[in-house]
Amino acid sequence: LDFEVLILGCNSALAAHGRHPTAQLLRHHNKLFLIDCGEGTQMQLQKFKAKPFKIEQIFISHLHGDHYFGLIGLITTYHLLQRKTPLTVFGPKALEPIIRLQLEVANTSLCYELRFVATQTSSKELIYEDELLKVYSFPLYHRIPCTGYLFEEKKQLRKINKEKTKDLTLNPELYAQLRRGEDILDEDGVFHSNESLTLDVPAARKYAYCTDTMYSPSILEYIEHVNLLYHEATFMNDAQERAQQTFHSTTGQAGLMASNAHVQKLIIGHFSSKYIDLKPLLNESQQVFQNTELAEEGRIYLIE
Ligand SMILES: [Zn+2]
Ligand SMILES: [Zn+2]
Repeated sequence: LDFEVLILGCNSALAAHGRHPTAQLLRHHNKLFLIDCGEGTQMQLQKFKAKPFKIEQIFISHLHGDHYFGLIGLITTYHLLQRKTPLTVFGPKALEPIIRLQLEVANTSLCYELRFVATQTSSKELIYEDELLKVYSFPLYHRIPCTGYLFEEKKQLRKINKEKTKDLTLNPELYAQLRRGEDILDEDGVFHSNESLTLDVPAARKYAYCTDTMYSPSILEYIEHVNLLYHEATFMNDAQERAQQTFHSTTGQAGLMASNAHVQKLIIGHFSSKYIDLKPLLNESQQVFQNTELAEEGRIYLIE
């Protein structure tokens, strides 16, 4: 329950059939991260009763409008509502001058600090880190520069088994060694294996976000063994040629990526507006990778 993603928009460029362009809200413990910000994102945040003021980092994949046209609206709303905490936006280099110009011509001088961090598409890069989580960008293959994002929990320290340590005299340094997973000699010189005095902690979990990309096995190395993979599936298998021309993926290709990356679960999204019923898309992906689900707006997916 402490690592989950809320889908705010699951469609591609055209909003249609009640579906919105791409945006997702990722929660890790008490932190909220926004991933892409298509038009209407702030309304979707309201609709699903998310807490937009808790967002301090926004990750933009690329500069097609369906992934960032909601950004200036959200940034301006924060200003109107007297935001105080800084906001950091990660994305392609050209994003900063675009947003700064929009603010400048509106004669808006923000009441909070807005920072930009430029992403690049030549390699995987660590772009954000806090006590619990690391975020990497990595290259995707689209018509214009585009990055995916990998959210990776840090390895947790082991838990002390209080039942087993209560009769031992251990100084703080020995406790620290135990938490780091080391065996110890206690203050009386007696050996204790780490496993005898500590408890397992849950394995570090990972979420990978791959939007707007053509099928490319070179992406596999960035998303291997993630607990949850979001991969775009703009088209069905019969439109593979169109997918290739527009640098998008098909349902079957998304399934193949999930299968070859040995992920636990796949969510497909970024659906073309030509599809009203999404069931057939789900079926096609599931034929290749059984544990697939459709991205549905308002639905929360656990990363477990
Ligand atoms: Zn798109
Ligand atoms: Zn695009």
